[in-house]
Amino acid sequence: MKIVIANSIGVDSRGYYIIHSPSRWSEGIKNKDSWFAYYPWELAYCSSLLKKYTDHEVKLVDGCLERLSYKAYLEKIKRESPDWLIMESATRMIDENLRLANELKKESGARIVFVGHHASAFPEYLLKNRVDFVCVGEYEYTALELIQGKDPEFIPGLYPNKRRPLLDINSLPWPEDEDVSRLNYGMPGEPSSEYLEIQMYASRGCRRSCDFCVAGNVYYAQPNWRQRQIDDIISELKYLRNKYPKMEGVFFDEEEHNASKDFILKLTDTIVNAGLNDLHYEAMCDVRSLDKETMKAMHKAGYYKVRIGIETTSLEVLCNNRKPLDINRIGKTLEEAKEIGLKTYGTFMIGMPGSSRDADLNTVKYIEKMILVGLLDNVQISICTPQPGTPFYEQVNNKGYLISRDFMDYDGGRRAVVSYPGYSNNSIESVMAFAFRSREHASFLRKLRERKILSWAVRTYRKYGFLAATLKLLKRLRLELLHFLPRKTQKKNPQGTSLSI
Ligand code: SF4
Repeated sequence: MKIVIANSIGVDSRGYYIIHSPSRWSEGIKNKDSWFAYYPWELAYCSSLLKKYTDHEVKLVDGCLERLSYKAYLEKIKRESPDWLIMESATRMIDENLRLANELKKESGARIVFVGHHASAFPEYLLKNRVDFVCVGEYEYTALELIQGKDPEFIPGLYPNKRRPLLDINSLPWPEDEDVSRLNYGMPGEPSSEYLEIQMYASRGCRRSCDFCVAGNVYYAQPNWRQRQIDDIISELKYLRNKYPKMEGVFFDEEEHNASKDFILKLTDTIVNAGLNDLHYEAMCDVRSLDKETMKAMHKAGYYKVRIGIETTSLEVLCNNRKPLDINRIGKTLEEAKEIGLKTYGTFMIGMPGSSRDADLNTVKYIEKMILVGLLDNVQISICTPQPGTPFYEQVNNKGYLISRDFMDYDGGRRAVVSYPGYSNNSIESVMAFAFRSREHASFLRKLRERKILSWAVRTYRKYGFLAATLKLLKRLRLELLHFLPRKTQKKNPQGTSLSI
C-alpha cells in the first residue's frame, strides 16, 4: 500500500502564503518574500514511525514548503497514487484541505484520515464530510495502528474512541528527513532566526493550559511535559550536523524547552562536552523557569536567543486567561538575559479576552520601550484568535462574540474575529496595526542608534537575496513615513479606527 502523509495546501484561494504551525495557529501572508515554513514536526514523526513499523510505501509531502496552491498540490498528491492520505490541517485552511481530500477520494478511492488541531476539535463534522477516520490529539501511534490494520473500534485516539494516553516521546524515531530536507525549512527560515537553523524538539508538551493555547488544550488536553533522553538529542544533533555541513544552528521549537531546570543544565553541559557549542541555538522558553543559572548554562552551550510568551502587560488579563505572569519579574529576567549576552524574543497578543483598547495600548507602549532600551530584540504581535477546541473559543462562541464563521479569517495576523462589548473588532484591528507600526518604528530607531542598519541590510540580503532585501528596505522606509501620520489622527479619534493602514 502507498501512504501519503500531507501537510496543508501552501497557497490559499485568495493568494495568501500559508505559514502552518502544527500545534499553534497558522497564518496567511500576502507578501511571498516574508514567507517561511515551519517543519511539520508531528507529521514528520508520524512518517518516520510508519516507515519504521510497516512495510508500506510511505511518503511525506509538504504543500507549505513547496508553496503549492490547491490545484498544484492535488496534482502532486494524485501523482503519488496513494491508497491512504493522512492529512493535517489547521483551522485556517480546513475548507480547502477538505475539498482537496474529497477530490482525491472521488477520483482514486483513497481512504482519508484527518489529524491535528482542527480535526481534534471537529471530528464529527469531518466524518460527515466524507473523511474516513479522524485522529484526536497526539496522533502518531493512532495513525500507525490504523495503517497496521487494527480494528478501528479498539484504537485509542481514533474518534469516537477515548483519547490515547500521552505517548512516550523516547519511543519515537527521529522525524522525517528523507522525503523533505530538514535544512530546507531554515531557508529562508523563521524571520527572527539569525542563522541557518534546523527546527528540532528536545521535549514535548507544556505544564500549563492557557485558555487560548492549542497545544495546551487540544493536542494534550491536559497539562503535561515530557523530556527526551539527552544522549538521543545529542546523537540527533550530530547526525544533522554531519548530514548538513551548512547548518549553523538549531531552533528548539517545542512548547516549553526549559520546563525542567535539571534537564536544561544536563542538556547544555552535554552539548558543551560533545563539542556542539559552536552551533547557535535558540529556544521557546517559559519565562517563569528562566533564572540566571539556567541562562548562563544556555549561553555557554551556544544558545544565542531565548523566546518567551509575554502576551500583555495586564496582570488582570493574564489571570483571566490562566497565564499569570509578573511583568516586573519578566523585566528582571530580560535584564539578566542581556547581562549574560542572550538575545530576547517576546510574543504579545492584542484583543485577549478581558482586555481593552487602553490595556492593549499600554502593552504597545511597553513593547516600544523594551525595544528602545534594548531589552527585547524581536517582538511578535498577533491578534488573539480563538482556535476551536480551546476554552477561549468556547467562551466567545457561547457569549455570541464571534463575528466570523469563515475559518479562513482565523489566522491571527490580519483580522479580528471577535468583537467584545466595549472592545470592537475594528478597534482591535486598529490597535494591532498601530502596534505593528510602533514595533517597526522602535526597531528602526534602535538600529539607527546602534548603527546596525548596515548589518541588518547585509543579513537580509544574505537571507533573502537582492530584490527581496531592497523591497524590505523600501517597505521599512514606507512604514517609517506612515508611522508619523496616525499619531495626529489618534488624538482626533479616540476609538482608534483611523489608525488602520
Ligand atoms: S505556557 Fe505557552 S505552550 Fe504552555 S499552555 Fe500556555 S501558551 Fe501554551
